[in-house]
Amino acid sequence: MTAQVLELTIGWLYPKLMSTYGDRGNVITIERRCQWRGFGVKVVPLDQDATPADIRSVDIIVGGGAQDRQQELVMRDLQGAKAEAMREKIEAGTPGVFTCGSPQLLGHYYEPSVGQRIEGLGILDLVSVHPGENTQRCIGNLVIEVTATKLASDLKEMTGMTPYLIGFENHGGRTRLGNVEALGRVVYGLGNNGEDGSEGAFYQNAIATYSHGPLLPKNPFVADWLIQTGLRLKYQQPIQLSPLDDELAVYARQAMLKRLNVQITAVDNQPVAVKSAS
Ligand code: GLN
Repeated sequence: MTAQVLELTIGWLYPKLMSTYGDRGNVITIERRCQWRGFGVKVVPLDQDATPADIRSVDIIVGGGAQDRQQELVMRDLQGAKAEAMREKIEAGTPGVFTCGSPQLLGHYYEPSVGQRIEGLGILDLVSVHPGENTQRCIGNLVIEVTATKLASDLKEMTGMTPYLIGFENHGGRTRLGNVEALGRVVYGLGNNGEDGSEGAFYQNAIATYSHGPLLPKNPFVADWLIQTGLRLKYQQPIQLSPLDDELAVYARQAMLKRLNVQITAVDNQPVAVKSAS
């Protein structure tokens, strides 16, 4: 029996409108990590020309960040049958990584600094409000401990360690969570709103985060989780990915923690950021 070539389709949300902050790197990372393993992979733009059937055809969804104006243009298009298809995919457990402007649109609404409230899809129980153009943007390096139950458990199983994500945030909007799990706990940086210590959200298999970077090259085990989850859902088999040599990413993560003067220690098994005195 010939070995089946595993294949994945990556759906990329509005590439021309939601790529302001370099999140295309997430698409490239998933694509390369599939190719390095000999999987078939293709990228489908889920933009104004896409149909509800195109949305239903994908195995992983990637959404990047955008400026307020572009987010409004996206929501004019992501309505009706397309919005329904997106909702069905996420509710069915299609894995996805949605950065900054994207999860703001998956929530109930996003109130930009100027102009009308942008109604979201209401898939994630969260709201986002920009406090006004004279307020400080949330910009800077980000380190979070993944606390979303299922994802943390899966990542610990894959990596054998407490999962930390390292990234970079750049947003004006502040997000408040309703009945939805946070993706993680801020160890360094601001996160959802700079007040309640939460970062991002996690629902079904959708990762919502403010972390650009891009996120996946800095945290390649998350890319592997998306790929593995997508394959398992598509083929209905307990597919286990073979590891790749991520030595460079490991060094880069260590270098970032050092640059941020952050050591991850465990006190009562609670990871804390220990910033050196300097
Ligand atoms: N325009 C939104 C904000 O400022 C999202 C920014 C982003 O996607 N990086 O919060």
